[in-house]
Amino acid sequence: MRQTDAVPILGAHVEATGGIHLAFPRAAAMGAEAIQVHPTPPHYWGSPKLDQERVERFRAAFEAAGQPPFFFHAVYLINLAGSDATIRQRSESTLAGYLAAADQLGIDGVIFHTGSHKGAGFEAMLPTILGHLRRVLERADPQRTRLLIENNAGLGGCVGARFEELRAMLDGLQDPRVGVCLDTCHAFASGYEVRTVEGVQQTLDEWERVVGLDRLVAVHCNDSQTGLGSNRDRHANIGQGEIGEEGFRALLHEPRLQRLPFILEVPGFEGKGPDRANLEILRRLAA
Ligand SMILES: [Zn+2]
Ligand SMILES: [Zn+2]
Repeated sequence: MRQTDAVPILGAHVEATGGIHLAFPRAAAMGAEAIQVHPTPPHYWGSPKLDQERVERFRAAFEAAGQPPFFFHAVYLINLAGSDATIRQRSESTLAGYLAAADQLGIDGVIFHTGSHKGAGFEAMLPTILGHLRRVLERADPQRTRLLIENNAGLGGCVGARFEELRAMLDGLQDPRVGVCLDTCHAFASGYEVRTVEGVQQTLDEWERVVGLDRLVAVHCNDSQTGLGSNRDRHANIGQGEIGEEGFRALLHEPRLQRLPFILEVPGFEGKGPDRANLEILRRLAA
């Protein structure tokens, strides 16, 4: 039987307004044991600007909080797969800045969306994507932090909806500093069944066969407003969407996901983002 100390680490996306170090008291207030932040506004270009004082302030707060799993989510504008070379270069610089900052702070990873090929085709754009990712790793040269590709819901040629595309990027890079984040809402929206114990088992079998478990670093734990295979990226509070409580109970009890950080990116019951109530639902379902 499952050990009580082997459940996933239940966490949340937390506001970083006023300073990244403020994520710790905010996470503690809602009971989150793993943390993700947008260190810069997600709808604008930019990467975190650090100085000695900011790094020290963060590190002191990080250590005082017991060094919980901690991730940056890069800006949403990143697109390494499009036809616009200027946007791709900007994406590469932004991501390199993110990865270097994350490494300086000693956090676990930078989660990002690869972007959309907008119909050009994944295979056709793969060499371009890989070239940018290699340069991101060269420029940032992270020693500890990992670059984490997130699976996608698959609308409009977005890369990484199929597990095979994640595998192709990992294979192309052959770099242990690259890992993957599995978003439950995106997987479901792109056609992977996670509403039942059997569905979760089959989806994880597929993940294990195609992507492998060694590269899985974080789970984005979101219910979905839209149905299986809808390709829409619309997060719902846990149990209020199409995946439902049974699906999350199965995910939380899935042996292959134990000890991984499960990070909420849900709208929240007051519409202000992840909250204590969603974490309590996860805790109840994990019990
Ligand atoms: Zn996500
Ligand atoms: Zn999403």
